[in-house]
Amino acid sequence: MAQLLDDAGHSRTENPDKAHVLIVNTCGFIGPARDESLQTLRELAAGKRSGQQLIAAGCLSQRYGTQLIREVPGLDGILGTRRWMDIVHLGQRLNRRKNTKPIYHLPNYPTVGRDEHGAQRVAIQGGSAYLKIADGCRRPCAFCAIPLIKGTHVSRAPELIVAEALRLQSSGVRELVLISQDTTDYGHDLGMKNGLVQLLEKLVAAAPDIPWIRIMYAYPGYVTDELIETMARHSQILPYLDMPLQHGHRQTLKRMKRPANIEWVHRTIQKLRTTIPGIAIRSTFIVGYPGETEAEFQTLMEFVNALKFDRLGAFEFSFETGTASEPLADPIPQLVKSERRRRLMELQERISLQKSLEFVGQTLDVIIEGTGDGLSVGRSYRDAPEIDGTVIVDNELDVGEITPVRITGAMAHDLTGSPV
Ligand code: SF4
Repeated sequence: MAQLLDDAGHSRTENPDKAHVLIVNTCGFIGPARDESLQTLRELAAGKRSGQQLIAAGCLSQRYGTQLIREVPGLDGILGTRRWMDIVHLGQRLNRRKNTKPIYHLPNYPTVGRDEHGAQRVAIQGGSAYLKIADGCRRPCAFCAIPLIKGTHVSRAPELIVAEALRLQSSGVRELVLISQDTTDYGHDLGMKNGLVQLLEKLVAAAPDIPWIRIMYAYPGYVTDELIETMARHSQILPYLDMPLQHGHRQTLKRMKRPANIEWVHRTIQKLRTTIPGIAIRSTFIVGYPGETEAEFQTLMEFVNALKFDRLGAFEFSFETGTASEPLADPIPQLVKSERRRRLMELQERISLQKSLEFVGQTLDVIIEGTGDGLSVGRSYRDAPEIDGTVIVDNELDVGEITPVRITGAMAHDLTGSPV
């Protein structure tokens, strides 16, 4: 949306007071995200000055659009996930509007996908850009509302993805972050076998001046030997893999309708670590899923302790209507959920600190994202933008550049260092 608005000649401001149009890209995935989105919308609606327009875009709008109109007086426009590419058109319609009735169009059919060209001019921040390779999801995870919001998985055509990567390369992008709900499912709907591997080969060949390509959201069971070998073969593909596992107990995973082959996870992580030395593996877990006993949770703790993930996120189960787990309700008390999350994160904190300390004295390439007060903040290959840690460098460096940094200090999630 930002790129389309740039293309149409709009300029951006981070300051709501200066904006003519306020756009909130909402999240409707889980309860806390919905609450945050609603609160932001209400605050902006309450502070709106005359002539300002407020648009709610994103997942919450797609799923609860008409409800939003009731809950947020002052909302001018709603745009769902299926027609986000209408953002410029919606702005034009709002400008022509003769009354204050909100404008919205929320079709349920998937329209994002295969033929999506991406913007002609690209917007990058700090040298890094997300590259969407598919949208939607066809997995059956019982807790997840995303297939209800996004629809089934639709891959973008490889040539359009490569064309977008080339535009990003000529704009000076240094890091491509490949995203979709499930990157390892890329291409199955286009009849491709090992589609992600094929796409990576094309990207590496077409965009040799983008030194970092990062893979997010791999689905357990679909990290193939070919994928691991492709990652190992190309230095452009970062030794980093995000593979949300959600739990470490077979029965919990079965109730979640997730892959429950724990041996596969152990084998694959072992293979990743031997074939790609130094690889950073990130995962996420849900605690307090319906029926999770203390013994099941203990198994999860042992699983995390044994596999020693480099990065880990933990979420408390959030009950979502319309999902397959709805009949299981939400029986685990909130206090128990919070307590389990705290215990899991404390365990990970110790693991993360140990891992971070191993980097002291080493030199890591760091992509610089911001500077000020004699310092720079960046990320190494171990840190995906916005979700992992940072590297704090004791000098002001060029934003968007990748610079070697000698690591001098370590905290659980962040490192400190000096430019070499
Ligand atoms: S793979 Fe991810 S997006 Fe798809 S249903 Fe499962 S949790 Fe949801």
